[in-house]
Amino acid sequence: MTTRDDSKTRLDALRVEIERRNPAQPEFHQAVHEVLETLAPVLAARPEYAEPGLVERLCEPERQIIFRVPWQDDQGRVHVNRGFRVEFNSALGPYKGGLRFHPSVNLGIVKFLGFEQVFKNALTGLGIGGGKGGSDFDPRGRSDAEVMRFCQSFMTELYRHIGEHTDVPAGDIGVGGREIGYLFGQYRRITNRWEAGVLTGKGTGWGGSAIRPEATGYGSVLFAAAMLRERGEDLEGQTAVVSGSGNVAVYTVEKLLALGANPVTCSDSSGYVVDDKGIDVDLLKQVKEVERGRISEYAERRGASARFVPGGRVWEVPGDIALPSATQNELGEDDAAALVRNGVKAVAEGANMPTTPDAVRLFQQAGVAFGPGKAANAGGVAVSALEMAQNHARTAWTPNRVEEELARIMNDIHTTCHETAARYGVPGDYVTGANIAGFERVADAMLAQGVI
Ligand code: GLU
Repeated sequence: MTTRDDSKTRLDALRVEIERRNPAQPEFHQAVHEVLETLAPVLAARPEYAEPGLVERLCEPERQIIFRVPWQDDQGRVHVNRGFRVEFNSALGPYKGGLRFHPSVNLGIVKFLGFEQVFKNALTGLGIGGGKGGSDFDPRGRSDAEVMRFCQSFMTELYRHIGEHTDVPAGDIGVGGREIGYLFGQYRRITNRWEAGVLTGKGTGWGGSAIRPEATGYGSVLFAAAMLRERGEDLEGQTAVVSGSGNVAVYTVEKLLALGANPVTCSDSSGYVVDDKGIDVDLLKQVKEVERGRISEYAERRGASARFVPGGRVWEVPGDIALPSATQNELGEDDAAALVRNGVKAVAEGANMPTTPDAVRLFQQAGVAFGPGKAANAGGVAVSALEMAQNHARTAWTPNRVEEELARIMNDIHTTCHETAARYGVPGDYVTGANIAGFERVADAMLAQGVI
């Protein structure tokens, strides 16, 4: 009989061993720790999960690919970036997860993202494994032609590792519709195949799904709404603090407005904007998506209701709900304390691991409903899986149909996390609920498929 204490001791030892074998990867350590510290009850309750090597295998990527990406800028200078694809777990389906182009990308970042993706994708229930990739390439300030040459060089290596039944990349920070277009073009050229299902986030005219750009942001708002509903409330009239101004943040704002909430902020690395009248989503799209400009330009054009706070922390703005939608570890303990002081009721992570462990603990102690990214931001990858299904059937669903499916999936994920947390004696703890529910699905498949 394995007790919770035995399991905890074993998981703690495993964590120490993982940290030793994967030095200098703090984000990967953090992501693994956040999962392992919630698994003791399920290992104690279900002896098959305590089988030696199962959790060890889950924490070790199936394959890690690192490659050189040489490209020429508009002046003819040669640059050398590093490309990554970490194929973490394919027990439930082809590896699935985005590509991130950002100067901060390194192996540890890609592994943390890939690890989280395994659980997130399992929660969608759609038969997708987990992977992640990217490059330390910085697209900011680069011309379209430079981005195209970079993407072509990146795909010239990546193509041999991916495929509709093998590994299906998509976007993440720094990779949107433009980049997916260039990547798809190069894949098609090299392979001489129209293999639509090899990438998701494509344009709707050439195999992309309706609602894929909107899906992550819409989904995290739907998850926040489900958490509020659980407490007998809804989004109507709630003030929302949103960080970021990329794809996730823009569509988070759009959905909040559609459901009667009042999103008052957005941000980028230079500071944040607070808009007393509520963010004007069309202006935000114009500044960030069309012009690829800075968030300060939003405030300059919006008029009296908005101001730009250079270098400020968006979390100092009072709100009923918070949706961190920028990047990892953007919301720390002091930020959480400020939000709690200002009466925040619910937090839904639109980004991957934006909340530090101390901040999560603080929210939970204060009774704030906290939806972890693995659950709350799963809408993006869920619609990616729907895009794969459409590609496979050579069909295209209407926006309404995709949106209905997205709403159903987000509600199912909420229910699964909520029920799992209750089943393991921690009602309302969505972190434990998401980790255990995701773990059970992947672990069952791994056990059934043998030691591989
Ligand atoms: N990058 C997104 C995520 O973090 C989406 C991945 C995908 O669509 O494959 O889930």
